[in-house]
Amino acid sequence: MKTSNNHPPVDVIVVGGGIAGLWILSNLRAAGYDAILVEKDSLGSGQTLASQGIIHGGAKYALIGHVTGSSEAVRELPERWGEHLSGRRLPDLSSVRCNSDHQWMWSAGDIPSKIANFFAGRLMSGRVRPLAGRELPGRFKSICKTNTVYQLHEPVLDVASLVQCLADSNKGRAFNAEAICAEADGDNMLLEVRTHNETHCLAARALVYAAGEGNKEVGTSAMQCRPLQMVMVKGDLPELWGHVIEAAANPRLTITSHKCPDGQIVWYIGGQLAEDGVARSIRQQIAATRQELRRIFPAMVPDSLNWATLHINRAEGVRDDGKRPDNPFVGRYGRQIMVWPVKLAFAPVVADEVLSLVEAMRISKSQADAMIELPEAVVGRYPWEQTVWQCG
Ligand SMILES: Cc1cc2nc3c(=O)[nH]c(=O)nc-3n(C[C@H](O)[C@H](O)[C@H](O)COP(=O)(O)OP(=O)(O)OC[C@H]3O[C@@H](n4cnc5c(N)ncnc54)[C@H](O)[C@@H]3O)c2cc1C
Repeated sequence: MKTSNNHPPVDVIVVGGGIAGLWILSNLRAAGYDAILVEKDSLGSGQTLASQGIIHGGAKYALIGHVTGSSEAVRELPERWGEHLSGRRLPDLSSVRCNSDHQWMWSAGDIPSKIANFFAGRLMSGRVRPLAGRELPGRFKSICKTNTVYQLHEPVLDVASLVQCLADSNKGRAFNAEAICAEADGDNMLLEVRTHNETHCLAARALVYAAGEGNKEVGTSAMQCRPLQMVMVKGDLPELWGHVIEAAANPRLTITSHKCPDGQIVWYIGGQLAEDGVARSIRQQIAATRQELRRIFPAMVPDSLNWATLHINRAEGVRDDGKRPDNPFVGRYGRQIMVWPVKLAFAPVVADEVLSLVEAMRISKSQADAMIELPEAVVGRYPWEQTVWQCG
């Protein structure tokens, strides 16, 4: 690695400007560390702006009627986020927009009694309530014939406003540069980064890798990528946030609604459909979704809609069976820390753990922020703001 380094050392460098990296940066700076972040593309441009923004509290994961590892792990997350969203706890997220303060869950098949039994259980009491038919908006009732809809008190965030909020509070400390490689140099770690055609060498007492799929192999940690083909459908649609469930562990569809710059509503659709659709062509995945929507929303007119899909990987700590881990991964290897949050909702938990690990390194805190001459990173855009739509 080149040693030409005109940047003074900082306390911690965070690699990756998704939700994990930004929250970690906020926590470290609030604790008095001179921390900076490097992002190779734009802030949020990995999984974060491609996520559905749901702050899970466990209902979705306990669909089969018993408490799974996932449902236990996420139970406290809505309350934790509530503290930040109301500005009672740092980072202050009171400027973040909430798309919906709830989600719905309904069955497209013949299992309502099973759902009712499950929701009657202890775990979800107070978090789920059945909606009376008259509480359902007319637009929903006109396209979907189900009478049994449950409301989950788990919010759905406007993720772009979340990324913007964290970017604003870390102004001047998040840079547009790609981390290339790192090596130890006495008490410091040296990180080579590239901006356009230039390479720079940065120095820090500790490095945190929060680069999602871009995390380098450090120590014994290993990553798994679970691919998805998400579907976007745009047109004259009602806004809804919810899960269509069947007698399986995963919702058949998870639908979130977002306003496009042209004023139209896009349904962003994940769930089992996105997992099953990985091997399908774009055309096949759109056809499969159209068929599902016809079944679930018999009164919808799919011919007048615009369609697109998004191939994206979920990057996580490895599991022997390849399934989704229940908990985030945070590992320390000497002066380097590696994280995969598994869910956007786990970002505060991951950032707390990283702060504890950095505190354990006993790094003396710099008295002032070092001057770093790199271009500033900007906030990225949602997938539906940069896709090519297909009519039909
Ligand atoms: C389709 C989809 C839907 C989801 N929905 C939800 C949901 O509703 N609720 C929920 O809680 N979770 C959800 N998730 C999971 C959630 O999005 C992720 O767990 C979370 O966003 C991961 O954040 P991150 O910061 O670790 O990674 P990322 O958001 O992927 O950020 C990593 C960043 O690192 C940058 N980077 C990579 N390599 C380098 C490098 N060498 N140098 C510098 N920068 C680099 C990338 O450009 C990227 O910006 C969803 C995920 C997907 C894919």
